[in-house]
Amino acid sequence: MKFYSISNKKIIVSFKQAVLQGLAQDGGLFMPLTIPQLPLDFFKRINLLSFQDIAYEVSQLFVSDDIPEKVLQDIITKAFNFDLPLINLEKQIYGLELFHGPTLSFKDLAARFMARSMSYFIRNQKKELTILVATSGDTGSAVAHGFFGLEGIKVIILYPSQKVSMIQEKQLTTMGGNITALEVKGTFDDCQKLVKQAFVDQELNKYLSLTSANSINIARLIPQSFYYFFAYGQLKNKEKSVIFSVPSGNFGNLTAGLLAKKMGLPVGKFLAATNINDSVPQYLKTGYFKPRPSKKTISNAMDVGNPSNFARILELYGHQVQKIRKDINGISFTDQQTKSAIIEVYQKYDYILDPHSAVGYLGLKKYLRQNPNETRPGIFLQTAHPAKFLDLVQPLINKKVEIPQRLQKYLTKSKESIVLPNKFADFKAFLLS
Ligand SMILES: *Cc1c(COP(=O)(O)O)cnc(C)c1O
Repeated sequence: MKFYSISNKKIIVSFKQAVLQGLAQDGGLFMPLTIPQLPLDFFKRINLLSFQDIAYEVSQLFVSDDIPEKVLQDIITKAFNFDLPLINLEKQIYGLELFHGPTLSFKDLAARFMARSMSYFIRNQKKELTILVATSGDTGSAVAHGFFGLEGIKVIILYPSQKVSMIQEKQLTTMGGNITALEVKGTFDDCQKLVKQAFVDQELNKYLSLTSANSINIARLIPQSFYYFFAYGQLKNKEKSVIFSVPSGNFGNLTAGLLAKKMGLPVGKFLAATNINDSVPQYLKTGYFKPRPSKKTISNAMDVGNPSNFARILELYGHQVQKIRKDINGISFTDQQTKSAIIEVYQKYDYILDPHSAVGYLGLKKYLRQNPNETRPGIFLQTAHPAKFLDLVQPLINKKVEIPQRLQKYLTKSKESIVLPNKFADFKAFLLS
């Protein structure tokens, strides 16, 4: 499979090039040249397939030119060494727990696949690879963990100062080794802008071998499609079609779901559930896309005013809003609603949601309320473990949230970050130093 730049269809590269470059040389995002179709037989067997089986069958459609079978098997076995339970709250409401990876967010899945693919691709390269990653909270630690200790790779994380939770910051700033954390005096959008600028800066690219690990990297998008198939296969009854509610920020997760649908997965609707940073739900309503500065909320990993994967969604639907509306409903929620949902789910089901998953739950609930004739089951994606947001969740439910062992170990270490003004000149000087 080859990949093209959505801003210039003449730029066509291999999977390896797309992964190592992150963005095309013209600044465009990469997309697969065609969307491969899974055979009917795949869907007949899907309830018998493990997550690893699915990951292998889906990914080889995209990467088999560049990664040999055995290596791909190995990448998948090592990257996906944890469970993804599908829980059932009530008749039409399922949740997919995507947070059992080492940093307790769904970003582990994509980051671990990408890190291992990159590491394979640079195995014979002399020049050190510098990975730049802007994070609104969870990407940074997932990526850092994925790359930690890999030879020939340096990771630089940019995160918005004072806009991530205490635990998230600990995860970002205590790894050491080949990981450096830059604390930017600005928002996540500012961090993302600095990274994008670095990629098109000629001088930087002369001296450094830069690549991106944000959801703009195609090696993060592809693995996120795997769990849509898996979740569908885990449903008890063979369902004709399902609804997915996706708590969204930068829209990588939702875009991967759209890919899965285009590969043949029977999805009736996607619900793009956001917090008050609702530029995509607004677009779906009005037909106009107006990026805005992001506002701080309790679901901070979704505080994105100008989602970078939106361009990919437009591309997938030929920029036709009517077509997008057929597949995606946009719904946004306030912090107050999110908090009430956490309390409601705890009281009703004795189950604890983090604020991001709560937005996904709210999206599904609202959709079912508005569509009483809907008979298809809905699955909301659970993107983070509630323990990552202890300070918020515990007082709401008035109960202690258990902290998994792998999170506890970060809490005892002390923070190490480099504070940086929100200026490209300073960022560039740092990279060249
Ligand atoms: C990143 C993140 C999201 C948003 O995912 P996108 O792919 O950026 O839309 C949602 N929840 C959590 C916990 C996250 O870390």
